[in-house]
Amino acid sequence: MTKTSSQGSARSESPLDTALSQLRRAIDQLQLSENDWNTLSTPRRVLEVAVPVRRDDGRVEMYKGYRVQYSTTRGPSKGGVRFHQDIDLDETVALAMLMTWKCALTNLPYGGAKGGVAVNPKTLSQAENERLTRRYTSEILPIIGPERDIPAPDVGTDERNMAWMMDTYSVNAGYSVPGVVTGKPIVLGGSLGRTSATGDGVAIAVREALRIKGIDPHRATVAVQGFGKVGYWAALAMENMGLKVVAVSDVNGGVTGFSNVSSIFDYANANGSVIGAPGTENISNEELLGLDVDVLVPAALADAITESTAPKIRAKIVVEGANAPTTPAGDEIMNDKGILVVPDILANSGGVIVSYFEWVQDKQNYFWSASEVKENLNSILMRSITEVSERSASQQVTWREAANMIGVGRVAQAHRLRGLYP
Ligand code: GLU
Repeated sequence: MTKTSSQGSARSESPLDTALSQLRRAIDQLQLSENDWNTLSTPRRVLEVAVPVRRDDGRVEMYKGYRVQYSTTRGPSKGGVRFHQDIDLDETVALAMLMTWKCALTNLPYGGAKGGVAVNPKTLSQAENERLTRRYTSEILPIIGPERDIPAPDVGTDERNMAWMMDTYSVNAGYSVPGVVTGKPIVLGGSLGRTSATGDGVAIAVREALRIKGIDPHRATVAVQGFGKVGYWAALAMENMGLKVVAVSDVNGGVTGFSNVSSIFDYANANGSVIGAPGTENISNEELLGLDVDVLVPAALADAITESTAPKIRAKIVVEGANAPTTPAGDEIMNDKGILVVPDILANSGGVIVSYFEWVQDKQNYFWSASEVKENLNSILMRSITEVSERSASQQVTWREAANMIGVGRVAQAHRLRGLYP
């Protein structure tokens, strides 16, 4: 971590600065002590590893890998593994911190973690990706495990990577350990409903935000930035709820004018991008953020909504599918405009909620039906949404502040009750 960002006082808006400034605010609003700030603003365990990979042509390349266990106070640490060229230690710490508050807010018996490798997975063949995943797993092996720290998919990884991680861990253990990762293929102990869980949760958050704002979902319009594991499933679930999805985008840009989300998905799968789908018009990612819609769902990467993009937003509701898509300056502008912002740790918590179900099923060797998964996801998310909206109303704070107060407050309370060893 850089000195300035670990102090939370740097002027730039890196994801770690943002996360620390939100934590500081929650600590102040909860009137917690400086001891609490010192404990909660510091990750418990940080591991940086070298990941050598033999390319298909024989060259050996080195990549940097990370695993950050931000907190283990409320249970084993939990969080995804990101393969992205821009990932670094500061960002991994920030994302692990967000996982901590997310698991506490949704009352899952977990701390928070995040991992990653600084690599663009699109530059790897499948065999190279497998070697990289297995080597990364073996480097972080001493600190992961079903009772210690449970990885899952995040940006740039999917169930294929989870299968290799589970296999690498199991081969080393000498027996099959499905509970070491979640987001696995169903045949290896994955859960029904995990693939679409984050997007399904985003759609539930959108439905509740529309209800609170008194907007009929059948008349509501939505734009979705990002068309990956979160954006696509969220768009599909919202369409099934009756909303009109008017625009979607990926890293290459966005499109409008399509008749349904599935047709764009099929086109993007075949062509590698949503751009150029028949009958659509192109728009830039920035134009998408400024569309005159009821709901905007940023579901790509961090820092989409900033000082420069927030003034252009015309949506009444913003539901954060991505982790940390909004900078503090962007947040302030949206609040001043009266936009209801459903924060990431609430809006995208469907993924880790169903990861928790997967882990429970693996521990019990007893698997649930799709409808059980769906009902339990809905009930945990609804409980969290109600808690956040009630706290926001009773304390006159934003939904983000309310969510952070609940999450941070639970971790602080657990810390106090456990006491400091020795
Ligand atoms: N990567 C997802 C997130 O950011 C899911 C984490 C998990 O399932 O452990 O919430």
